[in-house]
Amino acid sequence: MGAGPGDPELVTLKALRRLREADVVIHDRLVPIELLHEARPDAEIIDAGKSPGRHCLPQPEINWLLVDRARRRGRVVRLKGGDPAVFGRLAEEIEAVSKAGIPFEIVPGVTAATAAAARAGISLTERGHASMVVLAAATDHTGRVASGLDWGLLAQAEGTLAFYMGVRALETVTASLTALGRDPREPAILVERVGGADERVIASRLGQIAAVARAAGAQSPAMLITGPVVRVGGPDTACHLVGRTAAEPALARDV
Ligand code: SAH
Repeated sequence: MGAGPGDPELVTLKALRRLREADVVIHDRLVPIELLHEARPDAEIIDAGKSPGRHCLPQPEINWLLVDRARRRGRVVRLKGGDPAVFGRLAEEIEAVSKAGIPFEIVPGVTAATAAAARAGISLTERGHASMVVLAAATDHTGRVASGLDWGLLAQAEGTLAFYMGVRALETVTASLTALGRDPREPAILVERVGGADERVIASRLGQIAAVARAAGAQSPAMLITGPVVRVGGPDTACHLVGRTAAEPALARDV
């Protein structure tokens, strides 16, 4: 089930209903705590994002828990940040419960890319500017730059690129794209902690956003979005904007 990007109101009615019915909730680290308060007081709540002495539960252990709790306790909600089908290891969990013969349902959620676009006041597929959006993982689960990405293809893609897990790899991502032909003057934004009280948007250009974001102390979780749809000022404005997003979309265009 998708919990949305961090704002507890960005969850579907279906997800909320399932959460209230659950016997067990197994949740990730990025899930808003307010949502967990919607579970029944007697529901078992398992934090798969943290466990004593360890960083997070390994995936096989989560798969085992899903099956074990479904058999022993009944209705299990697996609550993931954003949408479970976007960089959420959904396929592995489906395989585990399917193999065990446990019926399941997938409840989608608002993914970080669309939530970030909404907060920044941009359309990911603005007519005439982008007829495609790429959802890409900049790093793999170990934190290394994703080896499977075709940087040449991404550099040439006429559309919007939305990078998940990109903060650590900002320099590599932006340098790879510009080295292979993407315009360094293309507007780019980094949207941090979408949906949280301390959400922030950092707007610049593809060639400079890594330096600007580092100087601003950017941290994960954040979405890097680049493409002509991210319009910040005119084509020649050397614009850097760092600010909270709440009232910012208009400002972002005025700079
Ligand atoms: N399933 C999630 C993505 C999980 S991968 C979804 O659909 O959104 C984790 C990455 O998602 C983070 O590194 C970050 O790039 C992005 N992300 C998740 N929550 C975010 C948030 N509140 N603000 C900005 N980016 C977020």
